[in-house]
Amino acid sequence: MRLATIKELLSSKNLLQEITVKGWVRTFRSNRFIALNDGSTLNTIQCVVDFENFDEDVLKKVNTGAALKITGTLVESQGRGQSVEIQVTALEVLGVADPEEYPIQPKKHSLEFLREKAHLRIRTNTFAAIMRVRSTLAFAIHNYFRENGFNYFHAPIITGSDAEGAGEMFRVTTLDEKKPPLTEDGAVNYKEDFFGKETNLTVSGQLEAEAYAMALGKVYTFGPTFRAENSNTSRHLAEFWMVEPEMAFFDLDANMDLAEDFIKNVISYTLTHCQEDLEFLENRLLDEEKSKPQAQRSAMPLIEKLKFVVDNNFKRVSYTEAIEILKNCKPNKKKQFQYPIEEWGTDLQSEHERYLVEKHFNCPVILFDYPAKIKAFYMRLNEDGKTVRAMDILFPGIGEIVGGSQREERLDVLKEKIKELDIDEKELWWYLDLRKFGTAEHSGFGLGFERLVLFATGMGNIRDVIPFPRTPQNAEF
Ligand code: ATP
Ligand code: MN
Repeated sequence: MRLATIKELLSSKNLLQEITVKGWVRTFRSNRFIALNDGSTLNTIQCVVDFENFDEDVLKKVNTGAALKITGTLVESQGRGQSVEIQVTALEVLGVADPEEYPIQPKKHSLEFLREKAHLRIRTNTFAAIMRVRSTLAFAIHNYFRENGFNYFHAPIITGSDAEGAGEMFRVTTLDEKKPPLTEDGAVNYKEDFFGKETNLTVSGQLEAEAYAMALGKVYTFGPTFRAENSNTSRHLAEFWMVEPEMAFFDLDANMDLAEDFIKNVISYTLTHCQEDLEFLENRLLDEEKSKPQAQRSAMPLIEKLKFVVDNNFKRVSYTEAIEILKNCKPNKKKQFQYPIEEWGTDLQSEHERYLVEKHFNCPVILFDYPAKIKAFYMRLNEDGKTVRAMDILFPGIGEIVGGSQREERLDVLKEKIKELDIDEKELWWYLDLRKFGTAEHSGFGLGFERLVLFATGMGNIRDVIPFPRTPQNAEF
């Protein structure tokens, strides 16, 4: 007999069939009703046991968390809340869960408590819903790119280029930490290291993706990236997944169009395919926010918020316009910003980004044409000589979700920039080759996958949307 999933059984029209199902006990009420879940859906199937016909010692082991094999008949449900249930004829306890020890009991646990039990928290409705949404979003991303003519490109995880400049890196080495080989002037001699040079975990696959875009046209990477930034925020991880499309012959406008269409498409896909889980997460959030003052509650329930993003244009604003808005806004004049906006050229902090998105525009915003001085070396210089073709997408409640740009394709301009920033040209020899041989306009962006999952699930902390979060002082599991 094929093992049916609970999701299949709950929508089955084929009553009175003999079925076998395996799953974990969520609750066992009145020595009669087992709510069984197998992860295929948020919902449980009710399994009814006539306790008179079962061994008491076996029923004693039917505790929350225990794994069961149940055989029985699928019947129309007598109770409310479900259409079908299982009349149990045989029950086997596959694995017990001692209620004295098992921490995931059917009561409310705090997210902080569950973070310490990351290996078991996935057994709660909240985390199972989040991770199904996460999985669906990942699929939607691959699907979107495949349908739009992109090739999936695997960027290396260990990188020998240290000029990416996107953040602090984690060193990869096999040298003996206690007595590493030294050079004549006493520095660590990386020539004797595994790769014969300094290597790190990648902070971004962009530079390599550019090489591939300049042959395959449209490519994307979707993989783990690592940043040793010591920022303990609810938006930063030391290991996170990034989606990085890179397109030949795209200028910044085409890049922004693609980014907007892409985000709308994957959210829309998730709205269609994760309805139950999103409804659950929406109610979880409403419940959580009940105890908060009105001003701190979300402006819209989760699903409405997601539909709003799908149905409305993102507002496109130049950095220069944004600075004008910020300079003249109330919180700036009243000195309520931690970093007051005084002049053109300052980098925007998340308090400014959030003001623009949540207070001023009330919708997702794309900021573009940033001052060259606050952006990376590879971004294309505008005619004004002081701004670059960069864009960031800012989301309500999240801040920056995407960072991208049109890349500098002119060899001489790029070389000039590299010199200005005191980067060793030799380090970038292969990257410069891309401008020497068949150079062309091209663009791309990076989307932090966990920030997208945060937005889609309405969760508040990035540690709760990745299975086993890596953050400063924490690499348990
Ligand atoms: P932030 O200013 O928020 O630190 P960033 O400017 O360093 O971001 P980029 O280098 O442009 O970000 O990276 C592209 C995207 O990757 C960001 O828009 C964001 O969504 C995501 N991202 C960046 N750093 C992290 C991190 N430490 N953890 C999770 N996501 C991140
Ligand atoms: Mn950062």
